[in-house]
Amino acid sequence: MGDPSSSSTKEIIRQIALQVEQDENQMTTAEDLIDEPTKRAIAELQKHWMSEYHNSREKSLVELTEKLHQEFLSDQQKIRSELLQQFKEELEQTRSDLDVKYREQLKNESSKLIEKHRREMSDAKKKQWCCQCENEAIYHCCWNTAYCSVECQQNHWQNHRRTCRRRKTTTNP
Ligand SMILES: [Zn+2]
Ligand SMILES: [Zn+2]
Repeated sequence: MGDPSSSSTKEIIRQIALQVEQDENQMTTAEDLIDEPTKRAIAELQKHWMSEYHNSREKSLVELTEKLHQEFLSDQQKIRSELLQQFKEELEQTRSDLDVKYREQLKNESSKLIEKHRREMSDAKKKQWCCQCENEAIYHCCWNTAYCSVECQQNHWQNHRRTCRRRKTTTNP
């Protein structure tokens, strides 16, 4: 059995000591220098700032995305029209190249034909023709006189004998 008043006094002292200790601990932190309404106001302000920050960041991202998308679209458009232009130019170039090539080819073809004709004419002019039947001659008698066959030469002999320039010894066929 103890003294109840003594016991409660001890208890009160112990409580006060505890309180002082707690107060001393709390006094060391900066937050305890600020009162509750101010803390709440600061918390509100921070919350507000954070939400402002998020909103504006969100807005900036949306704007940036939209801007990039527009740039992408306009680039696409630009690239497409550039490609189209390039294609047209290449087509035009190809067409004019082909035109030049075709003209060149035509020129070559016709000059070849002209050359061929000229050669043929030249060959024809160099050839001798039968004085009797006008076929190509293979037997030569004398100046400007040839025959395609012995038969033609013999048949023509009646006309030719007066003008034949071959030496008399070899005249008779
Ligand atoms: Zn003949
Ligand atoms: Zn002759």
